[in-house]
Amino acid sequence: MWFGIITLFPDMFPTLQYGVSGRALDNKLVQLHCWNPRDFTKNIHRNVDDRPYGGGPGMVMTPQPLQAAITAAKQSAPKRSKVIHLSPQGKKFDQKQAEQTLAEGQVILIAGRYEGIDERLITLEVDEEWSIGDYILSGGELAAMVIVDTITRLIPGALGHDDSAAQDSLSSGLLKYPQYTRPLRFQGLAVPDVLTSGHHQAISEWRLKQALGRTWLKRPDILAKKHLTDYEQTLLTEFIRDSRK
Ligand code: SAM
Repeated sequence: MWFGIITLFPDMFPTLQYGVSGRALDNKLVQLHCWNPRDFTKNIHRNVDDRPYGGGPGMVMTPQPLQAAITAAKQSAPKRSKVIHLSPQGKKFDQKQAEQTLAEGQVILIAGRYEGIDERLITLEVDEEWSIGDYILSGGELAAMVIVDTITRLIPGALGHDDSAAQDSLSSGLLKYPQYTRPLRFQGLAVPDVLTSGHHQAISEWRLKQALGRTWLKRPDILAKKHLTDYEQTLLTEFIRDSRK
């Protein structure tokens, strides 16, 4: 997977050199390159921002250095890349979008700063706008890192166990079942008996029932989008009945 990042702060990205994303970078499962608009300025002071026309607070990123940085990124990309503007105004980035982007193999992410970027740059260069949530960050770099990390863990071989990503919450359209490790009892709370029974089919059924149940409890919006088999519906009905006892 190839990521091109347009950013005024490329030094933030070594943060990805830890854990899963760090291993994926070391093993060349991921290539990440940054282009700094400041390196593409044509003015003597290397300014990348200016005051907004019409007045108002803050500064706006000027289009010329951004466009030149995007052009350089496009030229270096292995194939034609989608250009994404990271913005609180964009469509919400989610697991499905992560899977689709991985299938495409490359993406260019523009991290804005200040009050954002000149609208004409968006008109001319941007294919889509993505938001990582309904809140305002000071810059798009953290959003870019969230997106890189999310896509990276989906790359086959990036995680220790090949099917860990498939078992993550949301990947199957459900939240993940509750998990336990040693000790068997902690502050009076025991691990559910079924998990120590060694009965694999019973464990799978318990996990599926819990996944259905906690999605029903915590994220009914996700459950509403999932088609349940008769078996899943039966397990969910049992979970709901048990939770009302
Ligand atoms: N004034 C802009 C607005 O109201 O839409 C917000 C600018 S914000 C302070 C600076 C930059 O942070 C944005 O250009 C964008 O790249 C990034 N950013 C802020 N919140 C974001 C979010 N929720 N998702 C993705 N990027 C975000």
